[in-house]
Amino acid sequence: MEYERIWNFNAGPAALPLEVLKRVHEKFFNYEGAGMAVMEMSHRSKEFDKIHNDTIARVRELMGIGDDYHVLFLQGGASTQFAMVPMNFLGEGKTADYVDTGSWSTKAIKEAKLFGNVNVAFSGKEINYTRLPKTEELNLTDGARYVHLTSNNTIKGTQYFDFPNTGGVPIVCDMSSDILSHRFDPTPFGLIYAGAQKNLGPSGVTLVIMRDDFYQTANEGITSMLAYKTHVDKNSLYNTPPTFAIYLMGEVLKWMLDMGGMEAMEARNRQKADTLYGFIADNKDFYHCPVAEDSRSWMNVVFRLQSEDLEAKFVQEGREAGFNGLKGHRSVGGCRVSMYNATPPEAIDDLVVFMKNFMAKNG
Ligand SMILES: *Cc1c(COP(=O)(O)O)cnc(C)c1O
Repeated sequence: MEYERIWNFNAGPAALPLEVLKRVHEKFFNYEGAGMAVMEMSHRSKEFDKIHNDTIARVRELMGIGDDYHVLFLQGGASTQFAMVPMNFLGEGKTADYVDTGSWSTKAIKEAKLFGNVNVAFSGKEINYTRLPKTEELNLTDGARYVHLTSNNTIKGTQYFDFPNTGGVPIVCDMSSDILSHRFDPTPFGLIYAGAQKNLGPSGVTLVIMRDDFYQTANEGITSMLAYKTHVDKNSLYNTPPTFAIYLMGEVLKWMLDMGGMEAMEARNRQKADTLYGFIADNKDFYHCPVAEDSRSWMNVVFRLQSEDLEAKFVQEGREAGFNGLKGHRSVGGCRVSMYNATPPEAIDDLVVFMKNFMAKNG
C-alpha cells in the first residue's frame, strides 16, 4: 500500500483519510503563502481566523444546523464535557436523566452526581450493555433539565440510529465515536459533544454544538474556562485554542463534503457494516457478535472467538498481516474493529478475506 501504510482499526486516535494527510503534508511548511506552518501561526492572525471560521461553517453545513446553534472548539476531551455539562446546567434541586449504556455513560453519570440530582433512566448493566433501550423503557423525570445519551458505545459496540423521544426535554449527547457518521435530525438536541480523535480529526480538540435556547438556561458564576458562555462570547478564542487540531478537523470536514456529505458517509458506513456483520452472521459458529441486532454499531464492531487463546492468535496474526488494532478494549476483552468515516470499504473487504482464511486454518 502507498507509503507502506497498514489498515488501522484503532478505536481512537484513529485512522484519518489519506487524502487529508497528503493535503496537509503538501502545505505543511508554507500554508497557502503564509510563509509558515499552521502550527506556527498566531491564533489571532487572519490566516488562522479563516481556518477557524471555515471549520465552523463546515460543521454547520454537514450537521444541517443554522444560527440557532453555537459551534465551539474546546479542550480537555469528551471527559471534560462529562463535568462541564452538569456544571453549567445542573445544580442544587435540579435533576437530569442519564441513560447508562456503557463505560462512557457511567463516567458521565459519576461526574454529574457532583453537581445535582441524577436519575438513571435506564441501565443496561444487567444485560451487559448488549442493547440500547427503547423510548418506552426510559424512566424519565418530569421537568428534567436534560436527558443525557451516548450515541455510540465505543467499547460495547452499540449505536442509536433512532434516538429516544424525550418529549421535548433537550437531549445532551456524547457523540464522540459516531458524530457525522450518518444522517440524523439535530432538532431534539440541546447539546452535542465529541472528542475529535475518532471521527473528526486528531486528538486535542472537542467539538461542542449547543442550541441557543438551551444555552440561555446555563448557570452563572462558573470559572471562566469551564463556562460555555466564555467560549460562546469569544468564538472559542478566549485563550489559545488547539490550532493545528482545528485545522486538521477542518480538512477532514472538507473531505467529507467533497465525498458527498452526510449521505455519502452514511452509505459508506452502511456498506462496511453490512459486509462485516454479514460475514460474522454467516460464520456465527466461529465469530460471535454479542450485541443485539438492532443495536449494532457501524463504528465499532465487537465479536468473540471460541477462546481467549484463539482471540489472541487472531489479533497477533492480524497484526502480522497488516491489520492493526483488532483487540477489544482492555475492560471487556474479545476483538473489535473500529471503522470510522475515514476507513474505506476496501479495508473491510480485505479484513473479511483475512478472517475467512483464519477461520479455514483454525476452524
Ligand atoms: C473516546 C470516548 C470518550 C473519551 O474521550 P476523551 O476525548 O478521551 O476524553 C468519551 N465518550 C465516548 C463515547 C468515547 O468514545
